[in-house]
Amino acid sequence: MQTPVYSYPQLFINGQWLSSASAQPHIDVINPANGQIVATTANANQQDVDRAISAAKSAFAHWSVTTAEQRKQWILAIADEMQNRFSDLTRAISLTMGCPYEISKDAQVQSAIDAFREFADLAHVAEAAETVGNVIQNHLAVGVCVLINPWNYPLSQLVGKLGPALAAGCTVVVKPSEQTPIQDLIIAEIIEKIGLPAGVFNVITGYGADIGSHLCAHPDVDMVSFTGSTAAGVKVAQAAAPSVKRVCQELGGKSPYIITEDANLEAAVRYGVEDVMFNSGQTCSALTRMLVPKSQYQQILDIAKRVCEENIVGDPADPKTTMGPLSSKRQQQRVLEYIQTGIDEGARLLTGGLELPEELQQGAYVMPTIFTDVSNDMTIAREEIFGPVLCIIPYTDEEEAIKIANDTIYGLSSSVYAKDPQSALALARQIRAGQCFIQGAYFTTKAPFGGFKQSGNGREWGLEGLKEFLELQAIIMP
Ligand code: NAD
Repeated sequence: MQTPVYSYPQLFINGQWLSSASAQPHIDVINPANGQIVATTANANQQDVDRAISAAKSAFAHWSVTTAEQRKQWILAIADEMQNRFSDLTRAISLTMGCPYEISKDAQVQSAIDAFREFADLAHVAEAAETVGNVIQNHLAVGVCVLINPWNYPLSQLVGKLGPALAAGCTVVVKPSEQTPIQDLIIAEIIEKIGLPAGVFNVITGYGADIGSHLCAHPDVDMVSFTGSTAAGVKVAQAAAPSVKRVCQELGGKSPYIITEDANLEAAVRYGVEDVMFNSGQTCSALTRMLVPKSQYQQILDIAKRVCEENIVGDPADPKTTMGPLSSKRQQQRVLEYIQTGIDEGARLLTGGLELPEELQQGAYVMPTIFTDVSNDMTIAREEIFGPVLCIIPYTDEEEAIKIANDTIYGLSSSVYAKDPQSALALARQIRAGQCFIQGAYFTTKAPFGGFKQSGNGREWGLEGLKEFLELQAIIMP
């Protein structure tokens, strides 16, 4: 057996690397491209959680009263060091969750570093007070925050929480996914190097099922910011409820994409297929239900099949690869079961499916798959698959398209491609989702991100993302 690339036997608590109090064996992190152990990390227990929260609580007393300018400079110093560790961060993400290295560079790492810098300037917003009549409104840091993240965009998801938390004056305990802990531990090394005050940033590596509820229920924690599945998000909220803490939840999605009869079909269909297949379909906001007019059905299917089959599925280290494996064998199994369910329920496979080429069988691969003749009541149209599987659903008129779009328990993202932006906007306003991308627009951290319905509560990124980490205090003057 090969020696793992990474070994992190300790936890980063109060500015120091400390051994876990746990007698549990360490956690093996698996490279999903080949099934080999790529890293080992500590496996924290409740005592470790208590130590990390206690460190964050002590640090809050002085960190929360630093000036906005000081916090801005700390954020920029972290961002500079992230830039210096660019290749380490890219490699770590590629090896632990399978994103092709060339794609990981920009989509997983550079974009996250750039986004982290944007929070530096927002520190001043946290400090600004407003006066309305005889009332002064102050924005104060909410307190000690627990940040829990999944594995699909592990650095971006950390940045989307850590940036505003630090800018607001909060201290944090972060818990990355057990599958992708390395980028958080690299950030700990960065923070140790630049000398951020001890206890402001603490990292706990461990299983959500073992330590998650203790983290979320802890009386010294003021806020939990969670990204992950809706099922785990509900457990987080239940654990946090008795101590009435603030909970921000970024959860699952089953996002609709309406293409109208008079849209540029080549551009519209290409955009939709590429969106779903990106990151091997492991994007919470992926536009996994493509709603298309019956009048253009065959033409749309021809384009979708052609675009989908352009994907090169393979080794994440190969620069030609456009699609790597899924993040784990467990995720592969889950996605293959959904594909089998789609077949059993009568949807038609346009491309992809259950078969895998011989050379990919060792890794957690799934071929890019499109189902057609999907009706919105099928399991594959209702449940989040979180893999490279697109459902194409025909509609008769735009009224029916809107009805199908909104017929879901989720409301994270959506998209419309129409003849022109004005026509698209008219449809966008009728969709119950936190975001709507018009005419092939792309993700931007300038836009608040978050869900309606069971996709979550709260928003991330930009000013709205910062506000989640602030409490409003009213000072009433005589
Ligand atoms: P997951 O819910 O299994 O795990 C997410 C994180 O929560 C991990 O760190 C895990 O250890 C932890 N966790 C698990 N059980 C917990 C508990 N009871 N208490 C506290 N923490 C717990 O999700 P996953 O499989 O890692 O990620 C995939 C899911 O994340 C998908 O459903 C996807 O839609 C969602 N997601 C949402 C967004 C968003 O912003 N809305 C972004 C990315 C992923």
